[in-house]
Amino acid sequence: MKKLSLILFASCSMIVFSIDAADRPNILYIMSDDHTTQAVGAYGGRLAKLNPTPTLDKLAAEGMRFDRVFCTNSICTPSRATILTGQYSQTNGVTDLNGVLPPERQYLPQEMKKAGYLTAMIGKWHLEAEPASFDYYNVLPGQGKYFDPDFIARGDKDWPKNVVKHEGYVSDVITDIGLDWLEKRDKTKPFFLMLHHKAPHDMFEFAPRYADYLKDTEIPEPDNLYDQPAAGFGSVATRGENDSLVHRIGTSVSKRHPVRNYGIDFNISPGLDDHEYTHQAYQEYLKRYLRCVKGVDDNLARLFDYLKKNGLLDNTVIIYTSDQGMMLGEHDYIDKRWMYEESMRMPFIMRYPKLIKAGTVNSDLINNTDFAPTMLKLAGAKAPAQMQGRSFDAALAGQPLAHWRTATYYRYWMHLMHHDNPAHFGIRTADSKLIFYYSQAEDEASNGKLTMPWKKGASYKIEPTPSAWEFYDLSTDPQEMHNQYANPEYAAKISELKAELKRQREELHEGDESHPHIQKVIDENW
Ligand code: CA
Repeated sequence: MKKLSLILFASCSMIVFSIDAADRPNILYIMSDDHTTQAVGAYGGRLAKLNPTPTLDKLAAEGMRFDRVFCTNSICTPSRATILTGQYSQTNGVTDLNGVLPPERQYLPQEMKKAGYLTAMIGKWHLEAEPASFDYYNVLPGQGKYFDPDFIARGDKDWPKNVVKHEGYVSDVITDIGLDWLEKRDKTKPFFLMLHHKAPHDMFEFAPRYADYLKDTEIPEPDNLYDQPAAGFGSVATRGENDSLVHRIGTSVSKRHPVRNYGIDFNISPGLDDHEYTHQAYQEYLKRYLRCVKGVDDNLARLFDYLKKNGLLDNTVIIYTSDQGMMLGEHDYIDKRWMYEESMRMPFIMRYPKLIKAGTVNSDLINNTDFAPTMLKLAGAKAPAQMQGRSFDAALAGQPLAHWRTATYYRYWMHLMHHDNPAHFGIRTADSKLIFYYSQAEDEASNGKLTMPWKKGASYKIEPTPSAWEFYDLSTDPQEMHNQYANPEYAAKISELKAELKRQREELHEGDESHPHIQKVIDENW
């Protein structure tokens, strides 16, 4: 009798546990760095014919591809802070690359832990403070290195001194650490793993095994690579009065930006004529970039194979995204930071067959403040009140999102830093975009200071540049070639969007009350 009750007790507790665990899926959040939608086959852009991402394409075919996911600040550190806090940049305090996210504000892993999840952060972190809110971490210091990278883990020494050197190529090493953690983890709990690749961030160092990949292939070029400054594109904020700033604003593929362009970085002969120089610089840029992408995609295949072999594939929510997009020569721009589509848009693919129908596509207007609330909802937890984003879990089952946003807010702060983009903010709706370049540094005292001296180039003075509005009708002009701000046909629409922009800046605490020099420019130009 005694024996029977013990068995009963044991089996009951097992049943209770297994129901509990089955209800809560594992969550595998994979994020690469600067991997843009143009370079994901599933998005069907000009590079899709090169088949750059077969593993990701399969993931999308078995899950859901999201077509309108945007970041709220298109640069590494702020985007990561937004994802971890569910908050816009001014609320989480990380507006630029110098931002720090201390453990007490690492809300996402904290809430996952409270929900009973085992939490881990592996790969590129880039938020300066210790990722102490995770049960386990093993992260690159700062940007990290492509080859034989150091990692910082928990250990005897205080953060960030516990450095361990790993041999090999960074995408392989991050995957190895991830697989090792999965194998050794406490299997009595569901897991929440953030696996963050460094690739394909600049300067695009690929593993030697990809040296011949695309070697003899002509990489398709964007239609708008050669025609910057095109009539109709941009504004005095991006081109200056009478195009006087086209050589100063926005680093380039071509010779246009004389100090920082990829022809210089990739040693293209300066004696070539403009068209040939641009062509060669672009081909080199894209080949290096796509070789890094290939390294990520092949490693994802290894990771997904492990999940399959271990019976984890269908009870794991798999998310693939990147911290933002990237300009791959569109408008002759490189890097991100811009509110233009290629930079602001994030790839976002989810697979979870228990909820998501294979091969589906979503077009809700989602941004990176929504990721944490959504993942928490799938974990059976509620997003804490301080998170500003909202869960879009209903969309996974193909349901409409109730009272959802009709415009998403954006802001880039780092006026004329590194890639010479003027500071700006704006909103994007389903089919249009309004941008205001206020073109001022966050800290007025920066005016007159010098920017970081770039390779082979002089420093520039940080100073206010012309402010201007841009409006693009994405339904007729998806490449954003024609700034229609001055077109009277759009006046009513623009006035509507300005009202929505103002409303969101207030509601999201994104105003400039604490930056009077910026507020002045806004007031003068509204
Ligand atoms: Ca990035």
